[in-house]
Amino acid sequence: MSYQVLARKYRPEKFQDVLGQEHVTKTLLNSFERDRIAHAYLFSGPRGVGKTTTARILAKALNCLNESNGSPCNDCQNCDEIASSRSMDVLEIDGASNRGIDEIRNLRELVKYAPINAKNKVFIIDEVHMLTQAAFNALLKTLEEPPPHVKFIFATTEPNKVLPTILSRCQRHDFHRMSLGTIEKGLRTIIEIEGIKVEESVLHLIGNMADGSMRDALSLTDQLIAFCGDSVTLKAATEMLGIIPNDLFFSITDALKTKDHSALLVQLSEVHAKGFALTDFIGGLNRHLLNLLIASGEKGGQLLDMTDDLKQRYSEESKGLNPRDLIRQIDHVTVMESELKHVQQPKIYVEAMILKLAEMDASVNIADILKKLSSGNTETNYTEEQNATEIFQPEPESTVKEESSTAARETAPEKKEAKSSVENSPQFKQVIKRWEEVVAKVSENGTSISTFLSHGKPIELSGKRLTIGFPKKYKFQLDVLKKNMRRIETSIMKVLDQEMRVEFVLVQNEKASIDKTEETHPVTQRMLELFGGEILD
Ligand SMILES: [Zn+2]
Repeated sequence: MSYQVLARKYRPEKFQDVLGQEHVTKTLLNSFERDRIAHAYLFSGPRGVGKTTTARILAKALNCLNESNGSPCNDCQNCDEIASSRSMDVLEIDGASNRGIDEIRNLRELVKYAPINAKNKVFIIDEVHMLTQAAFNALLKTLEEPPPHVKFIFATTEPNKVLPTILSRCQRHDFHRMSLGTIEKGLRTIIEIEGIKVEESVLHLIGNMADGSMRDALSLTDQLIAFCGDSVTLKAATEMLGIIPNDLFFSITDALKTKDHSALLVQLSEVHAKGFALTDFIGGLNRHLLNLLIASGEKGGQLLDMTDDLKQRYSEESKGLNPRDLIRQIDHVTVMESELKHVQQPKIYVEAMILKLAEMDASVNIADILKKLSSGNTETNYTEEQNATEIFQPEPESTVKEESSTAARETAPEKKEAKSSVENSPQFKQVIKRWEEVVAKVSENGTSISTFLSHGKPIELSGKRLTIGFPKKYKFQLDVLKKNMRRIETSIMKVLDQEMRVEFVLVQNEKASIDKTEETHPVTQRMLELFGGEILD
């Protein structure tokens, strides 16, 4: 017998079997119980999370000869035909390859005919956002006055590209990226039935690589079974999938802590010897640093989506690390990630940049140092007395005044705006308090987005509009964030259980204006000369 891929073999056949989308399946089941079936549905969400599967179950439930309360029997002729895509009354159309108006006109013709063997004619249009404008308009006409026996189920990975006039005529259901736990649990059930031994850490590895998609997780499992047979070890899995083990990243951060250059070079040569792609390595290192940053927060590793052991390990490892240092390291690695494509000698470049990472000095808060210096506290160590005296030479008063008034003028409009906000509303306080969690949630969708987001601060909540301020140097990152607004809003919804519209602004807030003065402060200037530092926001 030929091998049947797992995703097909274990495709859910009832709403209750669809993993991780209970918010959708429960609603659909309820609508059957109450006999309130909509005539058009829109399923949106990332790829591989069960949209098409749910659409097929819905089609079966609508046409099954023995349907009860929304559960198809999966045994009758109609169920069989739908499952094997042979049904004359359930038509699956791929929006990506049937984009034109002719196809939709065809569809409009088909809509006119009554179903042949079933109660309903069901049109499932996958990737509906790919349809052309003309096709959309044709579709809209059908949607406006659908015959009672016609049901539409649209699926899309990009609901923002679907015309609002179509959206408004559909009952919309947003499918979620699956959590690591859900994927692991699903895999565990399947490999048990298959009688295959898979180490627990392998399930975790697959879950992580699948990035929220059960379909991807199952196809990775297929590959592993083909490669390893019926006993899959972590060692074989990392080898086959070309995955860089977590241990290596922990060794790297350990070596960074102690500035151990030779240990770093040994780890890098291992990356090279094992044939890992440098881009994967740098991406993995960035993810690792972000995990440490999240784990260094109030809630420790709890916010991370991984096994408990690994959460614990991140919590331990992040102890004593300064979040500001981690953010700078992430920035540094993000730059590496984007420059790697353009350099002539990537291996040498990565070695040099990792050593530079080790030599990056710890962040110091200049305000603290200035305070210490002006209060005459001599605890700060200056080796040369001469330099220290020079630092303390008072600046002519007029210059100082001019500087501060320029700074004040520059920041005036923003300050005014900040004052008008309801800064002390309980909702806003809640946003501030749990902002870290929001950033962590966003990281599930992509490392760079959450890294960029971590540079900003919520500065105002007015109604549902949440304004997030960024220092001016992050202008470029803002463009990226704007493209990912919806993801950020979804994360806010998940963490705070409140719907908000985000807005990004470049600010020079009070804090930044102090920095500005500090930047030009003669002491700061002298310190930069002496110690070769960099000014941080
Ligand atoms: Zn049936």
